Amino acid sequence: MPIKNTSNKAVFLDRDGTVIFEKPGVYLSDPKKVVLYKNTLAGLKKLYEAGYKLFIISNQSGIGRGYFDEDTMLAVMSAMLKKLKGIKIEGISYCPHAPNENCNCRKPLPKMGKQIIKGYKLNPKKCFMIGDKKSDMEFAENIGVEGVLVLTGNGRKQAKKYKTELGNFKHCADLKGAANYILSEEVL
Ligand SMILES: [Mg+2]
Ligand SMILES: [Zn+2]
Repeated sequence: MPIKNTSNKAVFLDRDGTVIFEKPGVYLSDPKKVVLYKNTLAGLKKLYEAGYKLFIISNQSGIGRGYFDEDTMLAVMSAMLKKLKGIKIEGISYCPHAPNENCNCRKPLPKMGKQIIKGYKLNPKKCFMIGDKKSDMEFAENIGVEGVLVLTGNGRKQAKKYKTELGNFKHCADLKGAANYILSEEVL
């Protein structure tokens, strides 16, 4: 039975390097190559059962760069959703543009997050953004939610490279660590 979820708290999730395995620098375009991190399901289950709405917010510049088309990217999303059995993802937002297109939706710009916060009447003070890059943490700041950096994907390298900029964000080994942190931080 799906849990009826009327809460105003949510966790925004980066996709590549956070929910699903990313080899840094490789643009995933094959649905058969979608692999969840070992602790992804455990982490998402905790958040979901604690009443958090879950949203995927993803930059998919591989489309704008001409590496793959939108349908291929959506097939990867479907493959991911299939593996997240038992966990409801409320929504998926993605930016299909390349950085040089100067669009208004690519993270860290706040548009994708602001739309969700407004549409679902969320309270940003009760929301979190989990991601593996500095841009995810900047995005968190830009939408007024707390950012949590995971050390999967690009996380470990980013933490080193941007030690100062990322110093104020909680670092967690993976999604399960991030979920534990979020539940310990909960504003009731
Ligand atoms: Mg990522
Ligand atoms: Zn965009």
